[in-house]
Amino acid sequence: MQRIFTASGIGEARLVQQMLEAAGVRAQIFNDHASGALGELPATETWPEVWIERESQSALARALISGYESAPDEAVSCRGCGESNPVTFEICWHCRQPLPDRT
Ligand SMILES: [Zn+2]
Repeated sequence: MQRIFTASGIGEARLVQQMLEAAGVRAQIFNDHASGALGELPATETWPEVWIERESQSALARALISGYESAPDEAVSCRGCGESNPVTFEICWHCRQPLPDRT
């Protein structure tokens, strides 16, 4: 197991996890129930973390995450379920429908 990403919230953590798993990288989220510990720990230690199961996939995972972080701050709404997805996604993270082409 290797920590690959620290998210600012559980929604972002889930988005990153879905993105990794869509690319075949097994990922898990930790600390997603830790908010009750606020006040005892530094805030950063309660942020959700995304961990990958296979360290051999860390290069791929980092490439995906850096693509996610450098993506324009735009979202595309899924026509199927209405969830917003980063523009770099080709399928909806929520329902896996193909997303509208932005070009
Ligand atoms: Zn959808």
